[in-house]
Amino acid sequence: MQKGKINVQTENIFPIIKKFLYSDHEIFLRELISNAVDATQKLKTLASKGEFKGELGDLRIEVMVDKKAKTITVRDKGIGMTADEVDRFINQIAFSSAEEWVKKYKGETEKNPIIGHFGLGFYSSFMVADRVELHTRSYKKNSKGVRWSCEGTPEFELEEKPKKSRGTDVILYVSDDEKEFLEEDKILGLLKKYCKFLPVEIVFGKETETRKEKDDKGEEKEVQVEKPRVINNTNPAWTRKPTELTEEDYKSFYRELYPMTFEEPLFNIHLNVDYPFTLTGILYFPKVKQNFEVQRDKIQLYCNQVFVTDSVEGIVPDFLTLLHGVIDSPDIPLNVSRSFLQSDASVKKISNHITKKVADKLEELFKNERENFESKWDDIKIFIEYGMISEDKFRERAKKFALLKNTEGKFFTLDEYRDHIKAEQTDKDKKVVHIYTTNEEEQHASIEAAKEKGYDVLVLDTPIDSHFVNMLESELENVSFVRVDSEVTDKLIKKEEEMPSKLSDEEKDKLKEKIEKLLDKQAFQVTFENLSESEHPMVITQPEFMRRMKDMSAVGGGMSYMGNLPDSYMLVVNSNHPVVGDLLKEEKEDLRDKRIKQLIDLAMLSKNLLKGEKLTRFVQRSVELI
Ligand code: ADP
Repeated sequence: MQKGKINVQTENIFPIIKKFLYSDHEIFLRELISNAVDATQKLKTLASKGEFKGELGDLRIEVMVDKKAKTITVRDKGIGMTADEVDRFINQIAFSSAEEWVKKYKGETEKNPIIGHFGLGFYSSFMVADRVELHTRSYKKNSKGVRWSCEGTPEFELEEKPKKSRGTDVILYVSDDEKEFLEEDKILGLLKKYCKFLPVEIVFGKETETRKEKDDKGEEKEVQVEKPRVINNTNPAWTRKPTELTEEDYKSFYRELYPMTFEEPLFNIHLNVDYPFTLTGILYFPKVKQNFEVQRDKIQLYCNQVFVTDSVEGIVPDFLTLLHGVIDSPDIPLNVSRSFLQSDASVKKISNHITKKVADKLEELFKNERENFESKWDDIKIFIEYGMISEDKFRERAKKFALLKNTEGKFFTLDEYRDHIKAEQTDKDKKVVHIYTTNEEEQHASIEAAKEKGYDVLVLDTPIDSHFVNMLESELENVSFVRVDSEVTDKLIKKEEEMPSKLSDEEKDKLKEKIEKLLDKQAFQVTFENLSESEHPMVITQPEFMRRMKDMSAVGGGMSYMGNLPDSYMLVVNSNHPVVGDLLKEEKEDLRDKRIKQLIDLAMLSKNLLKGEKLTRFVQRSVELI
C-alpha cells in the first residue's frame, strides 16, 4: 500500500472548503455525478474513435444510499483511472485547483453567494463526508483495480484492490451532521433538481410499473413489475435540432420543466449559437400577469445539461427574467460572484444575443402573423413595455412592433397611431396629443366626453404604463400623452381659440370664494375655464404631471417621495354654463349653497369620488331639491 501526502501547501484546506461552501453542501452530488457523466462520455468518445474496442455495455450511472452503513455511492462504468491517474488527477491537479479557487474568491463568496462551484469538483464531497473512498478500474487493457481513501486530512491511502467492472465507485462515508443526505427522499429531490436532463441515464432506487401480460390461458392480466428508477431525460428538447421538433414537443417540454404550471406558453424561441460562444436553450413567453413578480426567475441555467441555478439575474437583462425556459452554456463563468458576472465580456455578449433573438422573434411574428400577434398582445405587453423602458437596444427594435390599443379594441403601431389621430389631435404647439385612460370604468364620463368631441382614447392600464408613457414622450418627437381626465375635455388638446367668458373677473372671484367655503381646500383647487355651454357646469380633473409621477413612484422608479403625496384634484368651473351664472343671482344663501354642493357632488360622482357620508348627504339633498 502506498501512503502519501496530498500535494498541497495549505495544511487546513478542508476546513476552508467546508466553510466556503457552507450554504451549498448539496452540490456535492451534482459534482460527483458530473464527473461520472464526463467519465462515461469520454469512454463513448474513445469507442467512436476506435481507441476503445471492448464492450460498452450498460453505461447507466447508479446512485445508492446505504442508511445502515451511512454511505452514498456513485457508480459509473466510464473510463476509470489507473493508479497513476488517481495520483495525478485526484491527489495533485484537482487539489491545487480547489486551493486556487478558494484563494481567488476569498472574502467574496460570503457577501455574494456564488453560482455553483464547478472546478472544485471531487473534493466538494468532503463537505458531507468524513471519509471518501474511490474504487476504480481503468478501461485500458490489463488495468488493475485501485482503491484510494482519504479522511479529510491531507493524508491519503492508495492501494491495489481488485475490481470486476470497469469504471469508478465513489463512496462517501456521510458525517453525522449531514445525516439528512442518507434519506432517500432527499437524494431523490437533489437528483431531480440537478440531474433531470443529464445526457447519461442516472438510476436511483426502484419504481413499480404496471404492465399487461398474458397468463397461461392467454388472458390479459395486469402485473406490477419493479424496475430501476431512471431520473433523467437524456435528450431534452433544447439539445435537439429545431427542425426535429413540433409545436407539441415544445409544449410538452414546457410541462416537463414546470410540472406545476397549467397555463400553456404563448410561443417559444429556440436558441442555438456556436460562435463566438456556445449557447443553446429554449425560451418561452408566458402570459404575463399584472403582478408579474411571481412569474419571474423561472429560467433555468444549465451547463452541459447540468442544472446550475434558476436565478439568471446578471446573465440576461432584467426584463427577460419574465420569460421561462432553459439556457445552457458552458461559457458562462459559474464560479464567480454576481457582481463579476455583470461586467464579464462574454456574459455581455450572451445577454445581447438573447435580447436580439427575442426581438427578432417578436418582429417576425408581428410581420408574418399580425392578427395572431395582436391577439396575444395583452398577455405580452407588460413584457415588451418593460423591455422598452429598461433596455436601449430592445427599445429601438420594439418601436416597430410595439402596439397601442384604443377603447374600441383596435391595435396600432406607434407610427400608425400618430397618423390616425394627427388631424384631430394636434395642439397649437404642433404636438400630437395622445389621450389615454388607465381605467375604462372609473374614467367613463371623461372617455365619453372625449369621444363626443371626436377624439380617440388609448387604453394604458398596466402598472408600468406610467413609465411607458413617460418613456414614449421622451423618445418620440412632438408627441405628448394626457390621461383623459387630466383636463376638461375642451382643454385636453390646447388649440388657439379662446372662448369669451360670460362672467366678469369680479364675479368669478366672488363665486370662487363661495365654492371654496364648501369644499375640502386641501384636496381641491378651484379654477374657472371658459367652456362651451354644452360642457358640464363643474368638472373634476387630475393634472397629468403630478398624477403620473405618483403612479410612477408607486411601481418603483421616478421620484419616490411623490408616492406619499395626497392626490391633487382641480375643480374646474365652467364660467359659461347658465347654471353657474344663476348661482350668483340666487339670493337665498342656503339654497345657493345647496346648489353649489349639489354641483360639486355631481362632478365627484362622475369621477367615482363620492363615497361614504358624502354620498349619503348627496342622496338626501337630491330628494330635498326635488
Ligand atoms: P474537474 O471535474 O473539474 O476536473 P474534479 O476534482 O472533479 O475536477 O476531478 C478531477 C479529475 O479527476 C477529473 O478531471 C477526472 O480526470 C478525474 N475524475 C474524477 N472523477 C472521475 C470519475 N468518476 N471517473 C474518471 N475520472 C474521474
